[in-house]
Amino acid sequence: MSVQETVEHKYVYDFAEGNRELKDLLGGKGANLAEMTNLGLPVPPGFTITTEACKAYLATGAEPDGLAGQIATHLASLEQAMGKRLGDPEDPLLVSVRSGAKFSMPGMMETVLNVGLNDRSVVGLSAQASAGGDQAGADRFAWDSYRRLIQMFGKTVCEVPGEEFEHALDDVKRAKGTPNDLDLDADDLRGLVDAYKKIFFKHTGREFPQSPREQLDLAIRAVFESWNAERAILYRRQERIPADLGTAVNVVAMVFGNLGPDSGTGVAFTRDPASGAQGIYGDYLANAQGEDVVAGIRNTVPLQELERLDKKSYDELLGIMARLEGHYQDLCDIEFTIERGKLWMLQTRVGKRTAAAAFVIAGQLVDEGLIDLDEALHRVNGAQLAQLMFPRFRLDHEFQPVAKGIGASPGAASGKVVFTSARAVELAAEGESVILVRRETNPDDLNGMIAAQGILTSRGGKTSHAAVVARGMGKTCVSGADEIEVNVPQRRFVVGGQTVVEGDVVSIDGTTGKVYLGEVPVMPSEVVQYFEGSLDPEHIDNALVRAVHRIMTHADTRRRLAVRTNADTGADAARARRFGAEGIGLCRTEHMFLGDRRELVERLILARDNAERDAALAALLPLQRADFEEIFREMDGLPVTVRLIDPPLHEFLPPLEQLAVNVAVAQERGEDVAQEEALLAAVRRMHEENPMLGLRGVRLGLVIPGLFAMQVRAIAEAAVSVTRSGAVAKPEIMVPLVGAVQELETVRAEAEKIIAEVVGDSGVEVLIGTMIEVPRAALTAGQIAEAAQFFSFGTNDLTQMAWGFSRDDVEGAFFWRYLELGIFGISPFESIDRDGVGRLVRIAAEEGRAARPGLKLGVCGEHGGDPDSVHFFHEVGLDYVSCSPFRVPVARLEAGRAVVETGGSDSR
Ligand code: ADP
Ligand code: MG
Ligand code: MG
Repeated sequence: MSVQETVEHKYVYDFAEGNRELKDLLGGKGANLAEMTNLGLPVPPGFTITTEACKAYLATGAEPDGLAGQIATHLASLEQAMGKRLGDPEDPLLVSVRSGAKFSMPGMMETVLNVGLNDRSVVGLSAQASAGGDQAGADRFAWDSYRRLIQMFGKTVCEVPGEEFEHALDDVKRAKGTPNDLDLDADDLRGLVDAYKKIFFKHTGREFPQSPREQLDLAIRAVFESWNAERAILYRRQERIPADLGTAVNVVAMVFGNLGPDSGTGVAFTRDPASGAQGIYGDYLANAQGEDVVAGIRNTVPLQELERLDKKSYDELLGIMARLEGHYQDLCDIEFTIERGKLWMLQTRVGKRTAAAAFVIAGQLVDEGLIDLDEALHRVNGAQLAQLMFPRFRLDHEFQPVAKGIGASPGAASGKVVFTSARAVELAAEGESVILVRRETNPDDLNGMIAAQGILTSRGGKTSHAAVVARGMGKTCVSGADEIEVNVPQRRFVVGGQTVVEGDVVSIDGTTGKVYLGEVPVMPSEVVQYFEGSLDPEHIDNALVRAVHRIMTHADTRRRLAVRTNADTGADAARARRFGAEGIGLCRTEHMFLGDRRELVERLILARDNAERDAALAALLPLQRADFEEIFREMDGLPVTVRLIDPPLHEFLPPLEQLAVNVAVAQERGEDVAQEEALLAAVRRMHEENPMLGLRGVRLGLVIPGLFAMQVRAIAEAAVSVTRSGAVAKPEIMVPLVGAVQELETVRAEAEKIIAEVVGDSGVEVLIGTMIEVPRAALTAGQIAEAAQFFSFGTNDLTQMAWGFSRDDVEGAFFWRYLELGIFGISPFESIDRDGVGRLVRIAAEEGRAARPGLKLGVCGEHGGDPDSVHFFHEVGLDYVSCSPFRVPVARLEAGRAVVETGGSDSR
């Protein structure tokens, strides 16, 4: 019989076996622990259970075959490396069981420390710890570790409500008359362990498990399951992390920061994650275990203090940080623990940072020769740039801060104070801007943080939950403002003798950490000032503006897509031009029919014969011509795409109800109502059940003789007059809502006649093209291209019509539900639906170009300024995107990034 060896799937990796490339399999934490291990850094030994094991567990509800055995094998070698055994009553090995997914999800999933302690080994742990002589301290340490285990295990593995443990701890502190858990002695903590066990029993109906291997197995399961915890799901949706990655589980030999004053734990950044400035940034907490720092439970000291407390460890840490930064070539964030003067590295990763820090650090790393400009461009993004274009508090305001915390995530936010996540969500839904105020946040506050304009906490450093999550979301956050006494049950806080209640307005500055009562006036961002041309990057000492300038310049040299803007007025056009717009991709003509021109439009609509209609159009012509002249002059030398009138005509008339009332009132008074009645009749006649799908766009132009002709004439005449005055006008006439080539041909035939007549030998060239915004147009693009000199994708309408959504109705009615169910990852109006709407774009681009090589292709929907959509339009090979003026820099940046991310290749 042949020996058939079943090759067992490898589910467990020793730290020495992994590396940082294996994030998919080992998660970020595991991959980086392996990387540090292999760099020879002091990492406690351990092993990683793969994301595949997690996925298998989540799919079947049971550990996959072979996993238990592999864990046993790796545990045995861990025991051997440490010279201790899990559960040994004399000298127990303790381990932590830590979640760690591919993408960092701070505080979202579970970690259990001190696994392996039980009623017997707690005594052994104490005996081992007292080898130095301090028996009281050792006892304290051992019982502190045990109570932490029961607490974390109870909460995360057995779903015991965390507050119960916290209340029991508060009770002991109160009995002792101290606010500080360090004042509790071994007896207090032993008592606490008893109390915790009772709580555990009450909620689970069983005793706290004494078997270390059972503790380990249950903790591993709990970490697997924490992948699907509600808050983790919510966080992934917010951060657009795929739902099917699973988490790895790291089992790490414990090192102890709570062994006394010569021990401690901390977090550090190799540069300031808020500003990007070089230096030493971090928080340290003596005599504590790691979760105390991250949870912001006690106020930490700045990392610099460690130099005084433990110079040797401090120097070693600084050396390691420099080494890690050189190795990862980026800002690193680090967790470490010092056990009796011995430094241990517990985690590193490329650190999250604010938008400003992202630009500044990318610029610095280029200066330092660590990365090139392509890489710098890759490391920033349009969402960050957009964030930097928000206003900040004015410098000259008269408000005095009432408190100063840590500027944890920049920006300026004002709003009504709320104290609970639920209330934040409620008020935000009513359109209020709110500031969520908490002592500290925890993952249960996530909904409120999403809803809030800003977050203010009274405890915790730059690395507290509030700080980390707010930075990730781009929300303003001030943390650790400890002058503020927060009282959540009474929904109030007290600061400097003043009481602030729910609904009062406060302002927080996430850069300086200052907190103000009332609404502080804001000022524009310096990045905007730079784009506007009022800050010269070469001559000011502003690291951010210089970095933005440098990276934007590089993006411009790299991008293939041109960036235009949507602008309807000369002022908008001028601003967009300063922001770098290379033309107008959409000039709407609707507003040119409003205001005091309404009367002319009414005359046009009510015209009883050709003469009346022609008179109204003739009166509109010079007004339109002046509008276009202004825009052409501003865009001197750059193309301007003018869309012929698009909305249904009734939008220019008063609403039906109002007219009906006017007529009735006037009749009552015996006034002459002929004009009003005619208007009313016209509105009734024009009423449509589905105006979005009714008489608008090209359809209107074909029904109302002379309307499009007047616009075409105004455009051509304006171009000629601007050109005669020495500027260069490049008009492109765009016909909206075309679904069939015949529509376009009809409009075009008339337009060409007018253009030829007006332009004469002036040298002006007028292009005629069409929007592609009706699915049929996309599907017959080959035919339409025969009659169009350019296509511009109107992705708003295209999205509405492809999905059958009426945007105004659906966004409020059910999009939230679709997002909740994961039918959308993001609204298709925000970011292009690549599979459906994007496919229509692709088909139209390909078939259009096949029919007319060199056909100019652009997009003018709101998607033109959305980062992900810009990448898509680059891939499809469009010539330009057009977006609102403020989005122009974002589109420029993303168009450059699209090139470097596709390996610098031109996708056409
Ligand atoms: P998170 O992902 O929420 O930061 P971690 O798995 O990093 O969770 O662990 C939580 C805290 O416990 C961190 O401060 C970490 O440094 C600390 N910690 C984890 N494992 C150990 C260990 N083996 N020894 C000492 N502290 C640990
Ligand atoms: Mg961590
Ligand atoms: Mg449209």
